[in-house]
Amino acid sequence: MSSDIAIIDGHNDTLTRIFVDQGGGIGAFLHGNGKGDLDLPRARRGNLAAGFFALFIRTQHPHPNSEPKREADGGWTSQPPSIDYEWATQETARLLDCLDELLQNATDDLRLCRTINDLHCSVTDDRLGIILHIEGCEMISPDLRELQGLYARGLRSLGPVWSRPNAFGTGIRFGWPSSNDVGPGLSPAGKNLIRKCNEMGILVDLSHLNYRGFVDVAQISTAPLVATHCGCHALCASARNLTDGQLRLIAESGGVVGCNFFTGDLRGDGRFDADMPLTRLAEHIEHLVEVMGDQHVALGSDFDGADMCEEMADAACLPALITLLRSRGWDEAALIRVCHGNWLRVIEQTWESNF
Ligand SMILES: [Zn+2]
Repeated sequence: MSSDIAIIDGHNDTLTRIFVDQGGGIGAFLHGNGKGDLDLPRARRGNLAAGFFALFIRTQHPHPNSEPKREADGGWTSQPPSIDYEWATQETARLLDCLDELLQNATDDLRLCRTINDLHCSVTDDRLGIILHIEGCEMISPDLRELQGLYARGLRSLGPVWSRPNAFGTGIRFGWPSSNDVGPGLSPAGKNLIRKCNEMGILVDLSHLNYRGFVDVAQISTAPLVATHCGCHALCASARNLTDGQLRLIAESGGVVGCNFFTGDLRGDGRFDADMPLTRLAEHIEHLVEVMGDQHVALGSDFDGADMCEEMADAACLPALITLLRSRGWDEAALIRVCHGNWLRVIEQTWESNF
């Protein structure tokens, strides 16, 4: 009974894990290699029907010690450095080729979702749906000339920034405890990017954007507002989390928040510690429901991009969350909305309407 509801998930960094960080590539995804949080076998066990797969460009020369320095009270901040257009472009081309090869090797098992119909098919059949997302648009010029080509390759969702500044805006630096009102809003190019995405039917992700950038998107965008992977600032004062005021703006727009599973954004003590009960994730999901209503809440795990708790060690554990929510009194209709219904509605409005 617990694994019957198909899940659409708002964010993973699996492409980065298998093609950049740990390697293993296509084989690691299709057959699993015991590493990471998400691969095809575990997606099947977890009843994952589709997910936003991020194309994320790492810093060219990563700092060997990226663990943030903590203050005596446990507080910390971390601002990743900007990256070059040339590096981002080169890596994007490479990763898109890797993704194409993966898709060609698994036509019976995977589906690149270009239309809402593709996504509906993945919810009902056995082919895992891949929604191609860009997390940080450093490979896009301020005149947006690359956007059409990326759309042709399957891009249907983008976050203008990751947690670093770029030509479009300022990503919220990581930190706890911290407000997200740090740094300026979108640049003129950033504002044009939002308009162009509305026009083309590309979903704009508010995750990683600072407060002023968030407000700019809320004012400009004519599509429902979306944060694919964020938690609740009221429960954990991480700079990456959304305040209740931001959640209300998203709900008023008809949008959705995918609840992040990252322990550092859920626990409330600023630590990245897997020793966290799954009930803590349920508390964030229920706070989102309390503030926005269950028609605006979804899942956004951040598998392969963040530290998970022990009970949600990987995608195969997703049914445990459904079981937990049922035990907390959730009805089936609300569970279906949160597991996939809300994503289907908002994605359809975003992709298929001309705003
Ligand atoms: Zn992220």
